[in-house]
Amino acid sequence: MTYLPQEIIRRKRDGETLSTDELRFFVEGLNAGSITEGQIAAFAMAVFFQGTTMNERVALTLAMRDSGEVMNWKSLTLDGPVIDKHSTGGVGDLVSLLLGPLLAACGGYVPMISGRGLGHTGGTLDKLESIPGYNTAPDNVHFLRAVREAGVAIIGQTSQLAPADARLYSIRDVTATVESIGLITASILSKKLAAGLDSLVMDVKVGDGAFMPSYQSSKELAQSIADVATGAGTPTTALLTDMNQCLANSAGNAVEIREAVEFLTTSHRNQRLETVTLALGAEVLQTSGLTASPEEAQEKLRRALDTGKAAEVFGKMVCALGGPSDFVERIETHLPSAPITRPVLAPSTGVVGSIDTRSLGMTVVRLGGGRTSPEQPIDHAVGLTEVVGLGAEVTHNQHLAIVHARTADDAERAAANVEASFGIAADTTPEVRDLYERIVPQGFS
Ligand code: URA
Repeated sequence: MTYLPQEIIRRKRDGETLSTDELRFFVEGLNAGSITEGQIAAFAMAVFFQGTTMNERVALTLAMRDSGEVMNWKSLTLDGPVIDKHSTGGVGDLVSLLLGPLLAACGGYVPMISGRGLGHTGGTLDKLESIPGYNTAPDNVHFLRAVREAGVAIIGQTSQLAPADARLYSIRDVTATVESIGLITASILSKKLAAGLDSLVMDVKVGDGAFMPSYQSSKELAQSIADVATGAGTPTTALLTDMNQCLANSAGNAVEIREAVEFLTTSHRNQRLETVTLALGAEVLQTSGLTASPEEAQEKLRRALDTGKAAEVFGKMVCALGGPSDFVERIETHLPSAPITRPVLAPSTGVVGSIDTRSLGMTVVRLGGGRTSPEQPIDHAVGLTEVVGLGAEVTHNQHLAIVHARTADDAERAAANVEASFGIAADTTPEVRDLYERIVPQGFS
């Protein structure tokens, strides 16, 4: 059936509901180049103002998923489900580095398509590229082989996966239409579903370091993603998790890889990070049927962690994607470190009552650990470590964090920013939560 793009735009502009065929026609035209940039921008703005029904979101997601290759794992006859986690991103959020190997160690197969740093948030791909030789853009043969052999491969978005999203996103980015729950849902899920997942768990961050601006909007996005992914045939639940402080002890690239390996190989684990990682893992073990109860799921994940099985999987993944075969055993010889380290000292004695998490993330970007223009190379060695958390009791001159910088000037500037990001009060007891809500799919409207 042939439609007129301007009629589709008009109907959406006037608040009408588009059919699956209309949305598919529009996405196919967008992908083929027969629909103009102006029409795509007008469509995005109409959707932004008029919203989308759940059925429209499912149709848009599936059409965008089908704009490129959809991975099919059947030919590999894997002996477990294909599962994944996706996060809206944050500061010191290294959950993917832990959860991919953990899920594989529990019997799942994890083809994780990850992104680069965006704004103040870090990117899993940038972190992994701290590892010499690690290839975040393998061809399909190597990607499939890594998933089959290691159980997990974390790589970047390829031009074959959901190309319609790449075009639509680049136009949304410059037309003030990013912040639409329907469009964000379709954008995230078109890429995730193109990876051929059996089930998914979504980590939607809440707080000042989160992508979504309010608790309510994070919750709406979580519900939308759980409903649409499940409606599209991939059972999905979501957790709302905290981003009012750095999730791990460190924020940066190599520093987060170091913390991830330490987490997997020793009992030095940040408690918040452990709670969030295991809770997300338990969700997807449950929805995929790998475990029969949440308790069994937690137990299985903990065993994979404590026996070192997840660390072994991490090492196998690194090796399968071109990194050193002894990476886990000898991280210090393989990871870059910054020439300058400088502690940031607490200006007074008290309790950490607030942390400007977004500002901590921007400090890492300014140190060179993130980008200020799209193609800019990043400095993998810089960042923050030993970042104290909310509710920590600190004495005057005790450290709040350690800055890792390329130059002494950079370290001074970063230290001033870090100090300004911490609110220390003599008499405060901040409410600290790691997990807020569990979101399960509901019916469609
Ligand atoms: N991340 C995505 O992949 N797409 C969006 O629209 C927003 C965040």
